[in-house]
Amino acid sequence: MAALITGIHHITALAGDPQKNLDFYAGVLGLRLVKKTVNFDAPDVYHFYYGDEDGLPGSILTFFPYGNIMKGRHGKGMLNTTSFSVPMSSLNYWQKRLTKYNVHFKQPQERFDSEAVIYFEDEDGLGLELVFNDKDERKGFSYGHIPLEKSIKGFYNVEIWEEGYERTAAILTEQLDHKLIAEKSNRFRFAATDTPGNYVDILCAPDSLKGLSGGGTVHHIAFATADEKTQEEVRIKVAQRMLNPTPILDRQYFTSIYFREPGGVLFEVATAGPGFAVDEDKTHLGETLKLPEWYEPRREMIEHAIIPVSFNADKFE
Ligand code: ZN
Repeated sequence: MAALITGIHHITALAGDPQKNLDFYAGVLGLRLVKKTVNFDAPDVYHFYYGDEDGLPGSILTFFPYGNIMKGRHGKGMLNTTSFSVPMSSLNYWQKRLTKYNVHFKQPQERFDSEAVIYFEDEDGLGLELVFNDKDERKGFSYGHIPLEKSIKGFYNVEIWEEGYERTAAILTEQLDHKLIAEKSNRFRFAATDTPGNYVDILCAPDSLKGLSGGGTVHHIAFATADEKTQEEVRIKVAQRMLNPTPILDRQYFTSIYFREPGGVLFEVATAGPGFAVDEDKTHLGETLKLPEWYEPRREMIEHAIIPVSFNADKFE
């Protein structure tokens, strides 16, 4: 039977100041803002989507920037690190760039074969990495302020800390079509598709404190499925395991189901389409505030409630 899950779709995190968030991810890191909308469950808060040129699954990092938010805490039962894929030859470039923008980073470390990793955090303390490697064939994206050949290509992997890895591993392998593809000490790497952008690392971290939701933490990870038909098949498999998936919800750019895995991380399964060009031209993604049609009648009130933001790539050469 064909796999129902193809890999990682997106990661969603909680942030503070929306302008700082935009400057960091689009400016310093050079991701494309592919959609500026609001949290569909709380429309007085933005929802920013960053990604590659088209916002393809495996590249999409999204934020709810609340303005003011209590800081969370990394720990077990949480996705603590989101890693981006960059070419091995860009190691010096990125070390210089992070230094230039006063982003403190740890010295490069080798992880698995042919992977050099540097860890850093955003303004809110969200755990991030650049993984330098030569096995990613995606082309990356640039606004022009970062050379295309140095640019981020999308995610490389994510890192989830768990009390024990077995229960989460069982959901990944039995319900979500993942396979164990590598392991090293307390790190177990799973993937539905064995390519950068789709690696899910489970770290056994029984001695760490439990993670607490708040600014600088991940809210959920979404896995990709082809369409609503395969999504419903996953939903049935998840329900059979007594994980109480939600009904299929319309998220405008995809449809989604959500459930919590036994270790505590909120999982989502999202469809590949229709994608971000459904309500604005591909060449102008992210430039204006987009609302789903059910919020359009409240546009004026919503625009009044959120803080205006602007982005100019030229300021981040
Ligand atoms: Zn989501």
